[in-house]
Amino acid sequence: MPGTELDIRPVTHITTDAIGQPGKRVFYLQGWQDERTITLIVEKIQIQSLAVGYEQFLAELQEKFPDLPQAEANFDEEKMRIKPPVDPLFRVGEMGLGYEADNDMVILVAREQLPEGEDPESGSIVRFWCTRSQMRALCRWGMDVAARGRPICPQCGEPMDPAGHFCPKKNGHKH
Ligand SMILES: [Zn+2]
Repeated sequence: MPGTELDIRPVTHITTDAIGQPGKRVFYLQGWQDERTITLIVEKIQIQSLAVGYEQFLAELQEKFPDLPQAEANFDEEKMRIKPPVDPLFRVGEMGLGYEADNDMVILVAREQLPEGEDPESGSIVRFWCTRSQMRALCRWGMDVAARGRPICPQCGEPMDPAGHFCPKKNGHKH
C-alpha cells in the first residue's frame, strides 16, 4: 500500500519539542497550517543533526545567493511548545532539506521509517515548506530542547537518571 504524501505549503509555524521524563523523552516535529497540526516522531539525534546540517545548508545558500538577507534565529519559547493533540502520523526515518529559490523557501522532507526489507516507496512523506528563518528558529530551539535532558554527571560524563545514577567512576575508584 503506497504511503501518503503531504505538502504543508507553507507552514504557518514549525517546531519541535520533547515530552516525558528525562531519559525517556520522546521528540516530536510539528508543523502548523493555520489551526491544523501535523506531528511526527523523531529522535533527538535527528534534531541535532538537522540543526548542524542546516547551518551548513544556509552557508551554502549564502554563497550561491549572496543577496539573500540573513535568516533570523529568534523564537518565542511559549510558541515553540508542541500543540495538542499530539497524534503523530509516523516515526521519521530520514530527513532531508531542499530549497526553492524562486520563493526563497526551505523544504524539510521527512520520510517514514519502515521495517527492514520493506519497499522504501511504500512509506509516507511529509514536506514542510518553511521560510529560512522559521527553519533556523526550529533548529536553535531544537538544540536547546535536546540539551535540556538529564544532567551530566561531573564524575563520569554520563547522563544521570532522576531515579539514581550508578557511576562507574565511583564504583571503580574511591576518591
Ligand atoms: Zn557518573
